[in-house]
Amino acid sequence: MMEVDIACAGFGPATAGFLTTLTRVADLPLQVICYERADDISFGVSGLVTRARGIRASWPELDFSQIPMATPVTTEKLVWLRGTRAVELPYIPPFLHKADGWVLSLGQFLQYAGGQLMGSGLVQIWPGSPVREAIVEDGRVCGLRLQDWDVRAQLTVVGDGPVGAVGRQLDGKRDLHEWALGMKMVVDLRDDVELAAGTVIHTFGYPEPEIFGFLYAHPERVATVGIFVPSWLRDPRRSSYRYLQHFMLHPYLWRYLRGGKLRSWGAKSLQESGRRGDPELVGEGFARIGEGSGSTNVLTGSGVDEAWTTGAQLGEAVLELHRAGKPFTKAKLEAAYVARRRDSWVERDARVAERARDGFHRGMIAGLVGMALAGFTRGKLFIPGRPQPMQRRDRQLADVPCDGQLLVSHQDALLMGGKVQAGPGEDHVKFRDPALCRECATKLCVSMCSGQAIANSHDGGVPAFDREKCVHCGACLWNCEQKNVIFAAGTGGLHSSEN
Ligand SMILES: Cc1cc2nc3c(=O)[nH]c(=O)nc-3n(C[C@H](O)[C@H](O)[C@H](O)COP(=O)(O)OP(=O)(O)OC[C@H]3O[C@@H](n4cnc5c(N)ncnc54)[C@H](O)[C@@H]3O)c2cc1C
Ligand code: SF4
Ligand code: SF4
Repeated sequence: MMEVDIACAGFGPATAGFLTTLTRVADLPLQVICYERADDISFGVSGLVTRARGIRASWPELDFSQIPMATPVTTEKLVWLRGTRAVELPYIPPFLHKADGWVLSLGQFLQYAGGQLMGSGLVQIWPGSPVREAIVEDGRVCGLRLQDWDVRAQLTVVGDGPVGAVGRQLDGKRDLHEWALGMKMVVDLRDDVELAAGTVIHTFGYPEPEIFGFLYAHPERVATVGIFVPSWLRDPRRSSYRYLQHFMLHPYLWRYLRGGKLRSWGAKSLQESGRRGDPELVGEGFARIGEGSGSTNVLTGSGVDEAWTTGAQLGEAVLELHRAGKPFTKAKLEAAYVARRRDSWVERDARVAERARDGFHRGMIAGLVGMALAGFTRGKLFIPGRPQPMQRRDRQLADVPCDGQLLVSHQDALLMGGKVQAGPGEDHVKFRDPALCRECATKLCVSMCSGQAIANSHDGGVPAFDREKCVHCGACLWNCEQKNVIFAAGTGGLHSSEN
């Protein structure tokens, strides 16, 4: 057991924003420690294009050009992929624009931010340290329980993202209804590809009407290409990897990607419920920041800047309370942190986005019109809709011929795209009730598994789990409609700092 002033779970953009704000005080009088599950602090997964409004405001001297793979946005396109055709929309609504933003690699950004933080000597970040749960005594969170020791703290900061163990523990039975699985590849493009660094392409309509996609160009002919497979995709075949391959093969994108080489690959869940998923942001002894606290904005397609900003807001609140000699109680954190957040652009934009995508439950056109309505009326108008039941589509996803470079088998991507490793310990994915699995017709946990780590068993009963292939994306957790998957914290996963 050890004692600190502040203990943090997870090192993503939210906690990076929190710690960066704290370390702006040169003689920080608090002992602060952060535990990250992944084996390094740079193994995060994101797109990533960001306006970086909050990042720039709280870290004004940050020079983005110092971060490898970073480049300012130069061109933006919004494209409707219709069958094999592509329609570039002549106009991009202001709420979707990233014109003043940056194309980044989240891994490189976190590595840079983490390096500055560790270099300050004011805070510590420990990778390879999954937090099992929060220590709760008499309704108060008193710190974090790791695999084999307890860390007691006056304030526990929960920044463990959409599927983090601590966030879910504090959520209790809160029902989150919108998720997505984001999957991406970082690609070395052919020498003759003309794609200016900073080009940002967003797509919709392909390879399924519900799937959104993106292609961002980094410097030196490197591109990031990826898709989002939402929880409201009606077809139970949710194999994101297959969908990503088909997406890349669309002629509009393949003209750039043909002859390219896979550098890196990754997948991660997104919690897309936004304000509707807002948990209690604070309680006795704890505060929640980032995507797990409902910060991700589905209308603007932005999560990093929002997560960072909520962290920065908590940092300011903590400094204010500490200077005033006030304790980290629920009431004090409400006044100092929640009030800041409610009064900021993160909250204002979240209100606009709250029901912006409901129209997609009625079809793609209704979805797009609903987004436009919500965006232009600042959320006053939208098209309502509810998720529809699953229905298998007739269309088969054809097999993709492998070229051994970019179009590689799912298993090869686990090795070529960063290498997946399993840490010591017991399985972090388990199946709660074998009887439910035996009766389950969809076996969604198998079809959607990002690493093919969950496979059908020979007798069609309880699936088999192979931890050597798990990338810790957490998608099995929310895809199982019977809520039969236990997804615990563990080390290992994908080793890549480019995603
Ligand atoms: C493919 C993809 C593309 C995206 N594109 C964009 C984009 O272009 N622009 C944009 O703004 N946003 C984008 N996003 C969303 C964005 O990445 C997230 O909103 C953002 O990363 C959320 O930050 P966070 O700090 O709240 O959580 P996370 O980034 O999820 O960080 C949480 C951290 O906590 C760690 N953790 C989890 N559990 C534990 C535990 N038990 N113990 C210790 N550590 C733990 C995780 O390993 C992780 O490092 C994209 C996401 C994906 C997946
Ligand atoms: S874990 Fe869920 S989705 Fe997978 S087989 Fe069991 S019940 Fe079905
Ligand atoms: S088993 Fe691992 S890779 Fe597969 S969906 Fe679950 S967390 Fe993702």
